[in-house]
Amino acid sequence: MAFLELQSLTKKFGELVVVDEFNLSVEKGEFICLLGPSGCGKTTTLQMVAGLVQPTAGRVELDGKDITKLRSNRRGLGIVFQSYALFPHMTVSQNVAFGLEMRGVPSVEITQRVAEALSLVHLDSFGDRYPRELSGGQRQRVALARAIVIRPPIMLLDEPMGALDAKLREEMQIELRALQHRLGITTIMVTHDQAEAMTLADRVVLMKGGQVEQMGNPYEMYERPNGRFSSTFLGRANVLSGSVKDCKFSVGDCALPVASGALNGMADYIIRPEKIEFTNEEALLKARVCARVFLGNHWLYQVETSIGVMHVTRANDSPPTVGEGDQVGLRWDLANAHIVPQESPT
Ligand code: ATP
Repeated sequence: MAFLELQSLTKKFGELVVVDEFNLSVEKGEFICLLGPSGCGKTTTLQMVAGLVQPTAGRVELDGKDITKLRSNRRGLGIVFQSYALFPHMTVSQNVAFGLEMRGVPSVEITQRVAEALSLVHLDSFGDRYPRELSGGQRQRVALARAIVIRPPIMLLDEPMGALDAKLREEMQIELRALQHRLGITTIMVTHDQAEAMTLADRVVLMKGGQVEQMGNPYEMYERPNGRFSSTFLGRANVLSGSVKDCKFSVGDCALPVASGALNGMADYIIRPEKIEFTNEEALLKARVCARVFLGNHWLYQVETSIGVMHVTRANDSPPTVGEGDQVGLRWDLANAHIVPQESPT
């Protein structure tokens, strides 16, 4: 039995099913990211775990106990939302102490635990400041301190870094990950940012239309996407739509060899841009480079082939040998291509 079990969790608003038979087992200490496009049901799922939204059907179990009907304030979970909701008229220390006071923790212990929590988020000397005297990143860390100080069995984070600029967000992601590892708090975080999910999560749960589309550790998810949606939501991908017959994938006038075992029928062929090489011999496809863009650590090429435009990325580890207008051959290791059943476009 996992630490947290979500079983067939379902939420309907009227006729609208926003979370549909959602199942997830979370181990103690795991960091889970719920990832997916806007409106796919991430926040509603998190709020059902928090006890802020009552499920229409299904069950939430924490440490073997059914908490589906338990009120939010009885679950003792640490919750951080995008709007940090700090009390503006209270100092940082008072904000962090609030949850402990509500629980009737003795004041000596409160002082000690607040100091510990502020130290964990590197705000030791900020206790006497007011929220308005802090930067966005510092406020965000106060919100985290406020959640961890109650030593919750589970921390629930809903886009906690949504209001930060890109650089600060990246720094905070690394800090949050280190903090979570140090404390070992089981954490579920909602994000629509795939890079954030990959940075933080032990396991990514990719959602679409209220259901789990794919879940796994970030590397598995990236390397073995189970369909067009997964491959393009988590990273970039070239997705060719065609059909498989007798170990050949046919698209337009082109036939690509496929590894044995692929089932005959309509299929999508997925190949990541960085898995494609330029070659002068044994090309799988011929192409013309129509654009080349420099992105610092890599080059992005847009190439035109007989079956459409594709993208190729090459690491910036030496001066580029291919330029706009060049005729090139494209080659990739067939083991890096994924043949998946066709999905209806989203
Ligand atoms: P975002 O990334 O935009 O926050 P999300 O994946 O977190 O999206 P939810 O907030 O869970 O999505 O919303 C899922 C769907 O449920 C949306 O279509 C939303 O409009 C709808 N919804 C959410 N709350 C309610 C409500 N109280 N009443 C009616 N519909 C709601």
